[in-house]
Amino acid sequence: MSNVLEDTQFIMKKYKIKANKSLGQNFLISEQVVNKIVECSSITKEDLVIEIGPGLGTLTKELLEKAGKVICIELDKKMIKILQDRFSLYENFEIIHADVLNVRLNKIIKDEKEEKGFKSAKIVANLPYYITTPIIMKLLEDRLDLESITVMIQKEVADRLIAIPGQKETGAITYSVYYYATAEGILEVPNDSFIPEPEVTSKVIKLTLRKEPPVEVKSRGVMFKIIKSAFMQRRKTLLNALTNTKVFMSKDEGLKILKELNLDENVRAENLTLENFAQITNKILVDE
Ligand code: SAM
Repeated sequence: MSNVLEDTQFIMKKYKIKANKSLGQNFLISEQVVNKIVECSSITKEDLVIEIGPGLGTLTKELLEKAGKVICIELDKKMIKILQDRFSLYENFEIIHADVLNVRLNKIIKDEKEEKGFKSAKIVANLPYYITTPIIMKLLEDRLDLESITVMIQKEVADRLIAIPGQKETGAITYSVYYYATAEGILEVPNDSFIPEPEVTSKVIKLTLRKEPPVEVKSRGVMFKIIKSAFMQRRKTLLNALTNTKVFMSKDEGLKILKELNLDENVRAENLTLENFAQITNKILVDE
């Protein structure tokens, strides 16, 4: 691998690039971090890799060596030109100029798998931090035919995503991630691993998509609405939060359900497991 810092400085100078803050542009300059991201993604020539926000192509370069094909999705036109110049000789490189939130990833993965026979598809990215959550939720909720998602994001968000429901540092999103994937923290990344330095510490996490959901629930959508309602008023007891938001028709109904599930009446949202929320959902849908 050549020197990532020198390459980055050279490309930025050659193309007169100033990082665009509003597009979340913080370019990686640490070889160790690039290596670690690629290594923990366990990429082989049988894999299709989709990279979101390739920027100047620092990660892309290593991904192209390992993967069967790399499809990059980048919003900034200036980066498209750089990437085309840099990687036009690679036959396994493709770039899509678009906002990732508007791309039909399902179709791309299906077509590529059918046409080229890739065994699995993986997402790898140093994400733009201003839309971390919408991107991750899209990747999970669209139920893409993916094996894993390896991303660098803000540490604070990362810790919430990889937390275990019912334990510390959870939020409503913890339950969504847990429903769709198993999650692990890979590496904390200091601010000086980027140009320009972001204002927050970063962390690489890996989500491995589950083949089967971990709980049985009558309606996934209703369950996630209940979880959202519970966490909107997380300082209140679950009973009050769900009564206030009309998930429970009355306090009495709520008390009855909590009792049937052996949950204390003072329990708070963050004390519940995903199984608990699935059970509450199933009870409410039966009672309707
Ligand atoms: N991968 C490069 C690296 O590690 O040095 C750049 C990462 S930078 C944190 C995020 C990249 O995402 C930028 O290149 C930015 O232009 C791009 N980006 C921002 N919003 C995007 C969107 N909605 N869709 C696709 N790419 C986007």
